[in-house]
Amino acid sequence: MSKASFDNSSANNTINPFENALTQLSETAKIIGLDNGLHQILASPKRVLTVSLPVRMDNGEIKVFIGFRSQHNDARGPFKGGIRYHPQVSIDEVKALSMWMTWKCAVANIPYGGGKGGIICDPKNLSAGETERLTRRYAFAIADIIGPHTDIPAPDVYTGGKEMAWIMDTYSMMKGNYVQPEVITGKPIAIGGSLGRNEATGRGLAITVREAAARLKINMKDSTVVVQGFGNAGQFSAQLVEEQGATMIAVSDSKGCVRNRNGISVVKLRKHKEETGSVVNYPGAESISNDELLETDCTILIPAALENQITKQNAGKIKAKIIAEASNGPTTPDADKILFQNQILVIPDILANGGGVTVSYFEWLQNLRREYWTEQEVNNRLDTNITKAFADVYDIHDKNKVDMRKASMILAVNRVVEAIKIRGLWP
Ligand code: GLU
Repeated sequence: MSKASFDNSSANNTINPFENALTQLSETAKIIGLDNGLHQILASPKRVLTVSLPVRMDNGEIKVFIGFRSQHNDARGPFKGGIRYHPQVSIDEVKALSMWMTWKCAVANIPYGGGKGGIICDPKNLSAGETERLTRRYAFAIADIIGPHTDIPAPDVYTGGKEMAWIMDTYSMMKGNYVQPEVITGKPIAIGGSLGRNEATGRGLAITVREAAARLKINMKDSTVVVQGFGNAGQFSAQLVEEQGATMIAVSDSKGCVRNRNGISVVKLRKHKEETGSVVNYPGAESISNDELLETDCTILIPAALENQITKQNAGKIKAKIIAEASNGPTTPDADKILFQNQILVIPDILANGGGVTVSYFEWLQNLRREYWTEQEVNNRLDTNITKAFADVYDIHDKNKVDMRKASMILAVNRVVEAIKIRGLWP
């Protein structure tokens, strides 16, 4: 599985993603007149676990890594969400990401709450053996709080099928020594992964772009696309939007950004990246900065990197008509206001990238029922789910004259609050 890549050149590390998540919640609470107590419940994760992970490195030394698992809310179902490996991981980042998962699962209307995990590490500087030992130690450390009906992890930035397989194996051996594929999703097909899961985030995003273009009467054949980040989500988003007729004109990864206004073929660029390790030096393309990339005149901008890429500093300079967020948290609340004023339609992360967790749900269902679905069946069900989620959000956006993020949040918070109220407080 290809790993996510990202462009961190304009990542604003001083903006705290959890504060952004809390601002989004407060703004929504105001609009829907949320009870203060319920607001407080939603403002902090139910549980956040910090673990210390000693690992024997290849040179014989012991190195200790820090990892987290944040479980935000499980009113609607088990906690669900990925695990990321990145030097920028922090407790506040995983808390924010876990809250966004709660909203994402509610928007997609799948029976899960939100969770997220991460390890502070630089995966590019770990050998395969070190990555396996670190992953298994992390799985051991969180084993008591995850489980097929409690918390089901998945891939995220710089993790994929390999890591999921080690976590499933470690968990299964610890908890009764029988295979339990339903404890984790995003697995390789051979051990219970789902067909279509690898492409699912990009496929879901392309469906939301298709729906947005139809509402805005934009012809995909005349559309140009800019993609920030050419990892799993970025690549498949680009490919599937290209299949609808659009032309990708600029793209980046962690090593640099390239642009060719006559078009960049996604398939050829993927080959170039496989051969050279980066999108940089793609034949016929000019090299540009990250700011130039985001501010390129285009129809659709797809941030598929890390958080806080579109801020109040650059939001006013963005020329895209649609922003479809493949990554989580790329736009700050201040930037949202500017984009809304400028009539740019933002398809927020909790809607645009919900295809990933939706197919994770299908994978989990297949595992629980010991079934295998065809790729066509997975893709059809995904299309039905995401099209419905888009329509639900768009209706709220249209009727209430709020941006699409607020519309998604209104839908999500109302669904979660309804579940909390019906279940009641215990004791
Ligand atoms: N990490 C992905 C996300 O942010 C997928 C989560 C999942 O499949 O559980 O949505």
